[in-house]
Amino acid sequence: MNLEPSTSLIPNALIDRFGRIIRDLRISVTPRCNYHCTYCDPLGHTHPEPAGVLSVRDVDHFVRASALLGLDAARFTGGEPLLRKELPEMMANAAATPGIKDIAITTNGTLFRRRHKELLEAGLNRVNISLDAIDQTVFAKATGGGDVKVVLDAIDLALELNLHPVKINAVSIRGINDNEIINMARLSLEKPLHVRFIEYMHLNNSQLEVYKNAFLPGSEAKAMIEQEFGTLEVVPTDPSSPARVFKIAGSQGSIGFINPISEPFCGACSRMRLTADRKVRACLLTDRELDAGAAFDSQNPIEGIIDVLLEAAHRKERMGDILPKIRERTMVAIGG
Ligand code: SAM
Repeated sequence: MNLEPSTSLIPNALIDRFGRIIRDLRISVTPRCNYHCTYCDPLGHTHPEPAGVLSVRDVDHFVRASALLGLDAARFTGGEPLLRKELPEMMANAAATPGIKDIAITTNGTLFRRRHKELLEAGLNRVNISLDAIDQTVFAKATGGGDVKVVLDAIDLALELNLHPVKINAVSIRGINDNEIINMARLSLEKPLHVRFIEYMHLNNSQLEVYKNAFLPGSEAKAMIEQEFGTLEVVPTDPSSPARVFKIAGSQGSIGFINPISEPFCGACSRMRLTADRKVRACLLTDRELDAGAAFDSQNPIEGIIDVLLEAAHRKERMGDILPKIRERTMVAIGG
């Protein structure tokens, strides 16, 4: 029996009430992480996968349903996605889905050397690696004991493998890694790396005063970098990209600022998220989620998921809650 829905009944683009076209999937394949970054509120990685976690089949159905609605890029995240042993299988299925053009991961890099071959075979096109500092003491403080050498090695490997553009994600936090902003920016001079400074979002349920004191606007990070390296050159970018991108004169790479709090880019948001516990979430900074469990378990999962996606797009907020507040979930459980 053919369970694929008749494509003539499906809109060929997922458009929300505000006219935004949803093209990008973020799939969180596990809430577990082997780092303990306080800004993210990690669940321990020693726990087994929680009951009801997304299966390979679930991800396959979700990607196929999304592709029928015109979504064309799938990024796997978490938690730490490389902790999930089935990740290559999930990626390979996504890569084989008609319409999907780009397969990417966001990772802390710790397991990248160990797993890169299977990821490449599965169709990995691009990788974003998180790195908050180069100094080992600062890095260990930011990540709860991480070894920066391992992550720097993963970054070099991604360059060797020509997974361009290799993007580095650094969350700038006053009192934690603000003294490393210059060192991080320098990475883009020496190597073809695209270092993106991300504003700290209140997605860890930290005390509000602590958060407010730690928040460091992207404009301040930019001013620090310009004081050291001179005025940054503007790099033209796709307007739907969240980063405003610049270059240090003569550099091989670039420097981006992702400023969701001081310069929200919700107007150009093209994302839809699937959490590891099978909830569809249209906005990172809004708690509203749709439980897709029944759709995944139904006789016609693709049709059911299409309905959930249409409803999630219809309800997608014009703007996320950028002000600090206590959230139902922290970043690690949503998938960054
Ligand atoms: N474990 C992977 C990693 O480290 O890249 C993927 C998951 S992590 C949640 C994805 C991204 O979210 C990372 O670049 C991380 O720095 C960022 N992130 C986590 N919490 C954040 C917060 N409160 N504000 C801004 N970015 C955050």
